[in-house]
Amino acid sequence: MKVIKFGGSSLASSTQIDKVIQIVQSDANRKFVVVSAPGKRTAEDKKVTDLLIELYQALLVDRSTKEIIKKIYQRYEEIAQAYPNQDTVLHEILQDLTKLNDLKIEDNPYYLDAILATGENCNAKLIASILSAQGTPAKYINPKDLGIVVTSEPQNAQVIRQSYNKIYQWRDSEEILVIPGFFGYTAEGDICTFSRGGSDVTGAIVAAGIKADIYENFTDVNGIYAAHPGFVHQPETIDEITYREMRELAYAGFSVFHEEALMPSFQAKIPVVIKNTNNPDHPGTLITTKRTNWEKPVVGIASDQGFSMIYLSKYLMNREVGFTLRVLEILRDFNLNYEHMPSGIDDLSIILRARQLTPELEEELLRKIAYEIDPDELRITHDLSLVVVVGEGMKHRVGSMAESTAALARKNINLEMINQGSSEVSIMFGIHKDREQEAIRSLYYTFFD
Ligand code: ASP
Repeated sequence: MKVIKFGGSSLASSTQIDKVIQIVQSDANRKFVVVSAPGKRTAEDKKVTDLLIELYQALLVDRSTKEIIKKIYQRYEEIAQAYPNQDTVLHEILQDLTKLNDLKIEDNPYYLDAILATGENCNAKLIASILSAQGTPAKYINPKDLGIVVTSEPQNAQVIRQSYNKIYQWRDSEEILVIPGFFGYTAEGDICTFSRGGSDVTGAIVAAGIKADIYENFTDVNGIYAAHPGFVHQPETIDEITYREMRELAYAGFSVFHEEALMPSFQAKIPVVIKNTNNPDHPGTLITTKRTNWEKPVVGIASDQGFSMIYLSKYLMNREVGFTLRVLEILRDFNLNYEHMPSGIDDLSIILRARQLTPELEEELLRKIAYEIDPDELRITHDLSLVVVVGEGMKHRVGSMAESTAALARKNINLEMINQGSSEVSIMFGIHKDREQEAIRSLYYTFFD
């Protein structure tokens, strides 16, 4: 039993949908199809979800919505016209879009959610209808009927565990079920969406609910690259990766897959495969709980910018009970989230996302640390990039740290911070942002080819 999810670019035009139909029809185990809203056809194009945001903005200021609804409708119409017998579903789509004009705005925290969800909802109806017309019996199912119950957090819903038992009851459905991604229903019956890109999350929830053997996530790349293709020329795609490795890579800037989508399938121990709609024969990247191939110590190298680091040292710090706690309490008082906190016997570095700081807040924060902690040295560094070398295989091999630091030293890159947790899944380096690309390249060519 397979759950299969198609992203917006795979559903952007009838040419793409022809490939989707082929993929669904080529394997009888592909019984649950989760769809995004139509995405971009070209780089300049707009996603239907972004058009719906424009519609929302027009509705807020009471501007006419005629043109924008027409534009959205035409996206579905253009696709539908390539297939026979789509008039009924097109009529329904136009009705669904027009009804958005009558949604209640006042005291409705889910107003935007209801508008956004329409992109996926209409697309699921259309894909089910097209599949049926192509001789593959398929049925649209609403997430409420399927059983996706979520928390009441507009545009940031989380699935509620009880959903899984309800979804399981659909396991033996005769027809293929086409499910709109991106939203569920609160216990009170309101539409509530996941965060942007959240159709991945729906796919993972359905896979966990029906206890699928695999969750296939179809996108427009061959899989997850071992390094950013903007930094490294034609990087390798990763063939197999563990959930823990994937989490580390996703944290440090890899965004092929929605971060939260890993959770339901991870908890249910369901493997996920990322595949390419435009190249379905490529095996893609398999995300598993346990890797079978330990040949490569490192699976990927990622990086992210926009960090600042507060450094403080105090002689005999290690003897002071509650030292770190006091520092963390100050951060909490300023409502600051920290990302990492590597420490030595007498010093501590706190790495945080720079976007949380303003010059005034930074000054006040440092003043408070200086006053309450009385460190011997206190300073803050900005423009930091974090570069992460990821691979559970490093546990089984001596020298990965030495090779990594040597790769950076060869390029004369200064290391402002090194952090390796005892789990040995990753090694993290803090470097100046201007050296990030060079660092990635040097590390990539050390561990790959
Ligand atoms: N259509 C939504 C978005 O653009 C969700 C998704 O595509 O996964 O964010």
